[in-house]
Amino acid sequence: MCKTKIVATLGPASNNPQIIEKLILAGVNVVRLNFSHGSSEEHIARAELVRSIALRLDRHVGVLVDLQGPKIRIAAFLNGQVKLEKGQLFTLDANMALDAGTEQAVGLDFPQLVSDIQVGDTLLLDDGRIRLKVKNIDGMKVLTKVLNSGMLSNRKGINLLGGGLSAPALTEKDKQDIITAAELDADFVAVSFPRNSAELNEARDLVQAAGCSAAIVAKVERAEVVASVKAMDDVILASDVIMVARGDLGVEIGDANLPLVQKRLIERSRYHGRPVITATQMMESMIENPMPTRAEVSDVANAVLEGTDALMLSAESAAGKFPVEAVAYMANIACGAEGRVNEAGESWKNLINLCSEPRKSMALAAMLSASSSKQNLGVAILTEQGDTPRLMSRFQGKQNIWALSHEPRVLRQLAILRGVIPVRFDHQGMSGHALAEKVKAHLFHADMLNNVDSLILTQLESLENSGDTDICRFIKLPNMFEQSAA
Ligand code: PGA
Ligand code: MN
Repeated sequence: MCKTKIVATLGPASNNPQIIEKLILAGVNVVRLNFSHGSSEEHIARAELVRSIALRLDRHVGVLVDLQGPKIRIAAFLNGQVKLEKGQLFTLDANMALDAGTEQAVGLDFPQLVSDIQVGDTLLLDDGRIRLKVKNIDGMKVLTKVLNSGMLSNRKGINLLGGGLSAPALTEKDKQDIITAAELDADFVAVSFPRNSAELNEARDLVQAAGCSAAIVAKVERAEVVASVKAMDDVILASDVIMVARGDLGVEIGDANLPLVQKRLIERSRYHGRPVITATQMMESMIENPMPTRAEVSDVANAVLEGTDALMLSAESAAGKFPVEAVAYMANIACGAEGRVNEAGESWKNLINLCSEPRKSMALAAMLSASSSKQNLGVAILTEQGDTPRLMSRFQGKQNIWALSHEPRVLRQLAILRGVIPVRFDHQGMSGHALAEKVKAHLFHADMLNNVDSLILTQLESLENSGDTDICRFIKLPNMFEQSAA
């Protein structure tokens, strides 16, 4: 089983129960519902379908609601699309009818854009496929010169090179969609284009007010958020999970800056103990082809080597021809890259930074015991809220971590953590030797102890704010297999 987790976007290519089952069996841990497309009814039905299939397969699969955010788009063309020629003039006209676009001009669904741009700016349309230079601004009309020839079709997105579009992260539609997220009991809510911690706090407040306890995912996709370590840290610390949203981010900061920024973001997120998802175009060619390119293989492997928790598929699983194959390839490549484990010292430095409080030092002690062992050791963690596995998994060692909880939502949220296997287990009312025996038997019967000859079992109540009993037991598993053979 692979330690790195896979987030797969659902869409027309992955709507039926057979495909969803195959996706989960191939290694999907979290499904992403993209609220830029589809109705709330469709999303609710999809979430229910995923939950029922996961239950049948006895897997803990998280549901991630991805809010659309203030994606600025052109309106539509009379004929669906136009061909633009390098050097020609083209106008973005916020006063124009929304479906009346031509070769000369097109409407905008976000008129506020006009006040954000200046003569000399470069606008990037359709993920950068068309570039426009701003020549003149006249009221609600932006006159531009086309920098490269190409087709432009309805509702393509617009980014400003260098970033700086002022739109706030949460639109009216997003606020409505948060209600839907609560209705479908989302495990994660992703905020698109957040500018700073204040916007993430606002999203968290709205999610909680809607009665939902989803983890908040910050999609890092604006230039200003990666302009300094301080700006990165501000967003990372306000979120539960970080997404390196390479699509929009690459357009805003320029592709050449993206690889280093990705490394930096993963590094900072790990430093602060936050899990990271690396997203967009990881298996892009598999939208059309049954196997990835070598470049994609390396990209996926490098994200794993950098320490990402999860890898994301977008169109590959939502609208591609080979959704299940894309997941299978991704899992296989990730497993290969996991062959190189971090030097214990490297992981160690990171965990020590996260365990400065006394109530966390037992977590440190447990991982120290686990990592210095020459045995094939596994780590079993009893958890109420998920706090202990969230912390201990930051070590990213070679051990499997079984996170045992009776709370399905906690298990679904833990599904995104690298190296963590969520296991349903009710330990209420049990303690001491009896509890240890029960954990052992439970993991054994779930066929999880095949390559393990001993266990570190922890229960850190002070860390989880559920009491003051902190336990770290070493359990040898000498003869379980002989017992079962007898
Ligand atoms: P999106 O976000 O696919 O919703 O735009 C991810 C990204 O920008 O990379
Ligand atoms: Mn995006």
